[in-house]
Amino acid sequence: MNYDVIMIGSGHATWHAAVTLQQAGKHVAIVEKDLVGGTCTNYGCDAKIALDGPFQLVEQLNRFKGAGVDNVPSINWNALMNYKHQVIDPLAPTMTKIFGQLGIDLITGSAKLTDAHTVVVDGKKYSSDYIVLGTGQRPAMLNIPGAEYIHDSREFLDLPAMPERLTFIGAGIIALEFASMAASMGKDVHVVEFSAKALATFNPAYVARLQKKLSNQGVHFHFNEAVNAVSKAATGYTVTTNSGLSIDTDYVLGATGRVANVENIGLEDLGIESSRRGIKVNGHLQTAVPNIFASGDVIDKPQAKLTPVAIFESNYIASVILGNQDPISYPVVPSVVFTMPRIAEVGVSVTTAQSQPDEFRTQVLPFGQQLAFQYKRAMDAEATLVFDHDGFLVGASVYADDGDDLINLLTMIINGRYTAAMLQQQIFAFPSSTVGVLDLLAGLLPR
Ligand SMILES: Cc1cc2nc3c(=O)[nH]c(=O)nc-3n(C[C@H](O)[C@H](O)[C@H](O)COP(=O)(O)OP(=O)(O)OC[C@H]3O[C@@H](n4cnc5c(N)ncnc54)[C@H](O)[C@@H]3O)c2cc1C
Repeated sequence: MNYDVIMIGSGHATWHAAVTLQQAGKHVAIVEKDLVGGTCTNYGCDAKIALDGPFQLVEQLNRFKGAGVDNVPSINWNALMNYKHQVIDPLAPTMTKIFGQLGIDLITGSAKLTDAHTVVVDGKKYSSDYIVLGTGQRPAMLNIPGAEYIHDSREFLDLPAMPERLTFIGAGIIALEFASMAASMGKDVHVVEFSAKALATFNPAYVARLQKKLSNQGVHFHFNEAVNAVSKAATGYTVTTNSGLSIDTDYVLGATGRVANVENIGLEDLGIESSRRGIKVNGHLQTAVPNIFASGDVIDKPQAKLTPVAIFESNYIASVILGNQDPISYPVVPSVVFTMPRIAEVGVSVTTAQSQPDEFRTQVLPFGQQLAFQYKRAMDAEATLVFDHDGFLVGASVYADDGDDLINLLTMIINGRYTAAMLQQQIFAFPSSTVGVLDLLAGLLPR
């Protein structure tokens, strides 16, 4: 079978390009060995956010206790999980159907490159002018005794019942998002982290604020602790560390990072360089073999490994195959920790700005206090804004329930190099939470 383009993997890194290219008259195939749609759709962002809604509501209702709300309902995890299945399970078959309607061939199985133009799946050969590698990442699992008792994020997002006692190994984004859910349900939660801090790349002030909030909800944080074994106990499991810490628990989740899926796809024989961090590419996302591109999480790159970045790369590769010769140019990329509240960041980090006072100025906006009623009594909501020496917004860090939405607005202001006059030429809906922040921001931007 001959194609113009074969995509390996069916996640966001590939299918946006597949649709564009097929619609532009190319003959496209996608090879997938698991559920169509990849991690985000089936086991990541979408699955997580389908579970998140009631936790957000409970968080907000708690703020109105004694101010109109008497009783805050508890979350029925099992019913919520059923809802998640209702929402998420149809996505893969729906995408399969849409690909079929568009004329994109879906090949099921594990793909391997045998030369620059040939992909083999289950012993069958397919040839193509271009190949896009979008094989993504998988959880990094600890190699310790009892590793078989450690679950990954995919399993947590499928849990039929929320355990009473949970231990999270790692204090990164995934661990804290899930710990935040379990804590909100009043469960006994431990977070064990090898390094000295949680969420290493995020604004330390907001990480400390979140950590304090989670600690107040009963989460036990253990830093500088290396888990060395998980063993079966009379009831549940025992997690132990090198320093002698011992935690009895019902469920252990390993969230110690993710590694790129670069093995067994034929990279070495073609001279395509890769490591656990991913595949090496040039400024056009080409591997060492020019007609073979890499896209999404499987690229070794400085940008955050997130869905919108994978989509951006997917769209870029489609444009290159259709004739674009410009190198890829990434705008600023927002990152969000979907805890209650969110920590959201974009652009120049607060840590970088504070270490280069000649280049940048930071300004704290305690908008939760300043806009108390618009912000639904979230008194701790706050943003730290980073301005360059001309006064333009170049970075932002937000701690707020709606930090995930607010950061998008701030991202547009950064990318658009907005002045105060540009903001003031627009009329925004009032009373709304964002308009208050925009008003405060207008006073800080150059005229
Ligand atoms: C729990 C969790 C929560 C997340 N939350 C967010 C979030 O809130 N926001 C956000 O932006 N990002 C989030 N992410 C990250 C996001 O899911 C990824 O950035 C995104 O899925 C990357 O897309 P991709 O197409 O590169 O890889 P994937 O979606 O992982 O797709 C790769 C596909 O390739 C297939 N594959 C691999 N090898 C082969 C082979 N040899 N042959 C055939 N098929 C193969 C795999 O089965 C898989 O389906 C989250 C991730 C996780 C795990």
